[in-house]
Amino acid sequence: MKNEEPVSIVVVGTGYAGVLSALRVARKVTAPVLLLGEAPMLVERIRIHERLAREREVCHRLAPLLAGTRVRYQPGRVIGADFAARTITTAEGATFGYARLILAPGAVGKQGEHGLSLARADELRSELPAVRRVLVVGGGLTGIEAAAEIAEAFPHVKVTLLTDRLAGELGSAGRDYVRATLLRLGVAVREGERLVAMDDGRVITSEGDIPFDRCIDTTGMRASPLLRDLGLEVDARGQALVDPLLRAQGHRDVYVVGDAATPGEGWSAEAARHLGMGCKSAMPMGAHAADNVASSLLGRSQAPFAYRHPGYCISLGRRAGLIQTVDADGVPTARVLRGLLGAWVKELVCRYTVFSLRLERAGLGYRWRKLPAALPVAPAYNRQEA
Ligand SMILES: Cc1cc2nc3c(=O)[nH]c(=O)nc-3n(C[C@H](O)[C@H](O)[C@H](O)COP(=O)(O)OP(=O)(O)OC[C@H]3O[C@@H](n4cnc5c(N)ncnc54)[C@H](O)[C@@H]3O)c2cc1C
Repeated sequence: MKNEEPVSIVVVGTGYAGVLSALRVARKVTAPVLLLGEAPMLVERIRIHERLAREREVCHRLAPLLAGTRVRYQPGRVIGADFAARTITTAEGATFGYARLILAPGAVGKQGEHGLSLARADELRSELPAVRRVLVVGGGLTGIEAAAEIAEAFPHVKVTLLTDRLAGELGSAGRDYVRATLLRLGVAVREGERLVAMDDGRVITSEGDIPFDRCIDTTGMRASPLLRDLGLEVDARGQALVDPLLRAQGHRDVYVVGDAATPGEGWSAEAARHLGMGCKSAMPMGAHAADNVASSLLGRSQAPFAYRHPGYCISLGRRAGLIQTVDADGVPTARVLRGLLGAWVKELVCRYTVFSLRLERAGLGYRWRKLPAALPVAPAYNRQEA
């Protein structure tokens, strides 16, 4: 089935980056904007651990978010593209033409019974009242937030966090606070241990066995397989390599944003180190790609993506949080905000993500913290490419 509508801008993915891109580009150009997604909702992934522990609503219907805009949502799981013909195909059998394509399919963690998907979070919430031992694998921010939330909401559950390094991204003051808060919540932190094998109901680590009733493995986050399937240049984690304009390497009309993208040719090392998988960079990338798409269609020059790491916000249950500041190079400093105040700031940041989509829809453009514009581009990058 070939869709004959003169669709000009196609955005793939209804996460933070995709929805923001679509809303923003629709404000800037008159071309039709089609938003393709697997379900008519935005899943607030940064709150999945809250959903797991407290049945918090994390699914936002797209209809009100897109109401009154020129963005049209179309259900469809993208499975293929013909970049020469500028068409994209869905598993449902539809083909859509585009003048510009923005890919925002995100990343996926472990799947199945040890994953932390939306469906698995719902299953775990109903199972945890009857469970005694939960093992969380991975001492990154997702593992820490999940362990703290479960320990606080289900005090009868013995939560163990297994990691080779706890909160490796943070500075020592931040890491110490995370460790102390987890201990206060009753989480047993097994740090410095390597997972050797996992079988039914226990893991074998470099130091011994840990039995569990339920396990959540937060390690091994990888970009959506779609990027590799489409034949884009990807790194070891499957993220598409993008140039400083956020275009997929080797493609002038295809932009990749959010967790799906990583700096490729043309980025300076200073700028690239500010980027990582995270909502905090996914939204700025989505907004910036929209600006560049609009510029390219209007015959204006496109700008390199300028972004500065804003720091880390971590929830540690509902009554404690940590805000870790970073310096101009994105390196954690000794300045941290802790406790209830940290929890409030984290809550405000979470609210701002969805609220900022509403602001974008209302015409008040999303803003973010930028590096000086000169930094993102490596000296060798030829700006005339734009
Ligand atoms: C528990 C938890 C806590 C987190 N906390 C934070 C935090 O505090 N701060 C932070 O910055 N980040 C945090 N993150 C990470 C953050 O959620 C992600 O970085 C963010 O969701 C990335 O946004 P995105 O738009 O790139 O992708 P996603 O939000 O993953 O959206 C991708 C979308 O693409 C769709 N899609 C995928 N494949 C296809 C396809 N083939 N066809 C059509 N549609 C497709 C998906 O259905 C989805 O709607 C957290 C993550 C978790 C799990």
